[in-house]
Amino acid sequence: MADLYVDGEWRDPVAGGRREIRCPADGAHVATVSEATRADTEAAVAAARRAFDEGPWPRTPERERGALLLRTADVVERDAKEFARAESLDTGKRLVESEYDIADVVSCLRYYGGIGGVDAGRVVDTGRDDAVSRVVYEPVGVCGLLTPWNYPLLQASWKIAPALLAGNTVVLKPSELTPSTAVLLMRALEEAGLPAGVANLVLGAGPEAGAPLAEHPAVDMVSFTGGLETGRRIMATAAATVKKVALELGGKNPNVIFADADFETAVDFALTAVFLHSGQVCSAGARLIVEDRLHDRLVDEVVRRARRIRLGGPFDPDAETGALISASHREKVEAYVAAGLAEGAVLRCGGERPSDPALADGHFYPPTVLDECRQDMRVVHEESFGPVLTVERFTDEDDAVRIANDTEYGLAGAVWTQDAGKAQRVARRLRHGTVWINDYHPYVPQAEWGGFGHSGVGRELGRTGLDEYREPKHIWQNIQPRPQRWFRG
Ligand code: NAD
Repeated sequence: MADLYVDGEWRDPVAGGRREIRCPADGAHVATVSEATRADTEAAVAAARRAFDEGPWPRTPERERGALLLRTADVVERDAKEFARAESLDTGKRLVESEYDIADVVSCLRYYGGIGGVDAGRVVDTGRDDAVSRVVYEPVGVCGLLTPWNYPLLQASWKIAPALLAGNTVVLKPSELTPSTAVLLMRALEEAGLPAGVANLVLGAGPEAGAPLAEHPAVDMVSFTGGLETGRRIMATAAATVKKVALELGGKNPNVIFADADFETAVDFALTAVFLHSGQVCSAGARLIVEDRLHDRLVDEVVRRARRIRLGGPFDPDAETGALISASHREKVEAYVAAGLAEGAVLRCGGERPSDPALADGHFYPPTVLDECRQDMRVVHEESFGPVLTVERFTDEDDAVRIANDTEYGLAGAVWTQDAGKAQRVARRLRHGTVWINDYHPYVPQAEWGGFGHSGVGRELGRTGLDEYREPKHIWQNIQPRPQRWFRG
């Protein structure tokens, strides 16, 4: 079935390539999808360019653009079961987690849909009666959107919703591993009344189908969520045509636990922080940084509970977490664990593929805890993006902050203490884009999401997220034009 969406039509790729999608949990066939080439992406860019330059979309009142997102949210909500099932089959994640993700997609579409037309810019005081001056917002233009496989539709909605609300036209290229829900989203947008060319979809590999979005002179902005190395490449490529660039890259996020934290809750969230979706979360709390005098008791309990986490496929009601996305990703995670052990980390649990024959066809890897880690170990400072928790100790507040900030990333982190003052002090000192106090992982679409350091450039979500996709423009109007007589002649 044709599954590239270009200029309001479902198309097959020009060169006719296909890719098979298999479920990471059991290797079962999920779908066969198009594998676009550069020619397909260039056609999508041309359609988006036309829709921006000639179409009514950039000039459509923002409130109407928001209404399209609200109608799309209704369609996604109506078909939520189909979306969640597709997301689980592509990613291998538990169905219940996909259901939460789809509910978050609906919230994101409703958040941006709901603020359409609310912000009319601002009037600036000229200090004169004969002129008015105002700042309005204009769409950036054609936006290329590149998204990863861990939260496929949520990442796409974080980009597509603000981009469309601001009046841009877009080309979305989801991860080649998880294309299914992007196709469903395009159908939902189409049903909601999307004009031709305003949102286009290409499927395929990054270097082939994705690269033109960073290279093409007709693209004004590239927004990328994915790995650090790919982000660097995209930023360098985009420099040639001076595109606007938004990057949401990885994280190596600290979860700082003081001895006065509520013990059971801190243990419970330490597990969720790192083992949710088997650690394939950019904000995963993969570095447990624990006060020395709490260390033994806390780590013993984390390990005891980590050992009991049950692995299984998306539709196994007893499963608590799923498989890793691919065979090569599991090998990468294994290599990080091996490097940690070679550098002196102590394996407390996990570290070996599960022996259960029921899991043999999936890319499963168990929750793994590495104790007695140091910042200079690769497994501590590089992103394994798997279910691997490293444990470090600290002595006092300054020590905790020093270790937590000792990372090239700066996406998210948490601090656990019952001392409200200490919580606020440490939260302010952490150089991370989101800091949770006595919690881990919650987010709201109204608040900014983004990072310090190598975690990215720009923000997603919130009003600042919208600002990534629009440019402020100053309009000065002389309301009493008459000759100025600067020159007398
Ligand atoms: P990736 O960098 O391999 O790919 C991301 C996307 O970019 C995919 O669509 C891919 O096809 C495309 N791509 C790859 N090479 C490209 C190229 N040369 N030109 C254009 N596009 C290209 O990342 P991934 O493996 O899919 O996702 C995992 C990474 O994403 C992790 O490092 C994770 O931390 C990060 N991530 C970050 C956030 C965040 O909000 N900061 C959220 C989710 C994931």
